[in-house]
Amino acid sequence: MRLERGVSLKHLNTFGLPAAAQRLVRVASESDVRKVVDDPELGRVHKFILGGGSNVLLTRDVTSLVVKVEVTGKRVLSESAGAWIVEAGAGENWHAFVEWTLDHGMPGLENLALIPGTVGAAPVQNIGAYGLELKERFESLDAVDLVTGRTVTFTQAMCQFAYRDSVFKHELAGKSVITRVRFRLPRPWRPVLGYLDLERKMLESGNTSPEARQIFEWVCAIRRAKLPDPASLGNVGSFFKNPVVTEEQCRDIIGRDPEIVHYPLPDGTIKLAAGWMIDACGWKGKAIGDAGVYEKQALVLVNRGSATGGEVVTLARAIQESVYGRFGIRLEPEPVVV
Ligand SMILES: Cc1cc2nc3c(=O)[nH]c(=O)nc-3n(C[C@H](O)[C@H](O)[C@H](O)COP(=O)(O)OP(=O)(O)OC[C@H]3O[C@@H](n4cnc5c(N)ncnc54)[C@H](O)[C@@H]3O)c2cc1C
Repeated sequence: MRLERGVSLKHLNTFGLPAAAQRLVRVASESDVRKVVDDPELGRVHKFILGGGSNVLLTRDVTSLVVKVEVTGKRVLSESAGAWIVEAGAGENWHAFVEWTLDHGMPGLENLALIPGTVGAAPVQNIGAYGLELKERFESLDAVDLVTGRTVTFTQAMCQFAYRDSVFKHELAGKSVITRVRFRLPRPWRPVLGYLDLERKMLESGNTSPEARQIFEWVCAIRRAKLPDPASLGNVGSFFKNPVVTEEQCRDIIGRDPEIVHYPLPDGTIKLAAGWMIDACGWKGKAIGDAGVYEKQALVLVNRGSATGGEVVTLARAIQESVYGRFGIRLEPEPVVV
């Protein structure tokens, strides 16, 4: 465990927003977390858990103790006819872990390639992309309780996964440090190809039965073309969740806006494309101060240089108001606002 004071968080959040942590502690193991819990000064203070900072919106300096998770390690726990079970430390880079599974002949996570951030944060919002959500490959995770210091193993049911959501965004936010995550990669491997962009790649290449490595390459190429690289343009990916509405609500909106992009879900509800709605309200390319709406994808808010968290919040609220005014839908931000 390593305690630092007055730490700039500008390079520890992919939005590149200016903020500082009064105190930041780096934890590399479960016992490091327990040392924080047992510490007479640090044990009792409110905590904010930080991974790669790619899903946080920092609006001010952080007075809570920032717990930066740096637990490493990757290993295969078991291999059977039905599945590989693999485990990674919460501080491992997510994309590097996906690549490692493929390099070791264990496909199953390729649709989630190139999502920034750490393995430990992946269950927090049940990351998803290109037709796959983390929960579909999840086995279990270990987390250390920040009050008792006890390590608890969470099953799928305990995590309460939902669309970009889990118990770690609610009751357990700041209370439980995820230290290790285990994944079940089913055998035989079956590709997940339903997503429109991937179908387009199959058509273009003439390859209709791609291997996992090919899907990984396609996903990386699609993402690089669509999303800004945080290293050159600060952002947190999709800023708003795609709203889910009933069939009746959707029919009502289609009546007014026949063009609206929407996807029927297996449970009968309908997902609306938030990016399309923001674009329809004329926001693409607009800015408030240095906080802007990405020119190529209206769902992504970007830091054009020296944006503050306050500017991003003002922009996000203005977008929410105009989308509500036109569609009667309240957009919900995806990142955690601090
Ligand atoms: C360019 C870009 C593209 C993106 N694309 C996608 C996408 O396709 N799909 C998607 O789902 N997301 C996407 N994201 C969002 C983001 O990458 C993911 O949510 C990622 O899992 C966040 O990881 P992180 O380590 O950066 O988490 P952080 O931003 O550090 O933290 C996010 C939340 O998790 C909590 N947390 C972090 N680590 C732990 C831990 N070990 N224990 C307990 N709580 C913890 C934090 O307190 C915070 O509430 C994208 C972001 C960017 C910048």
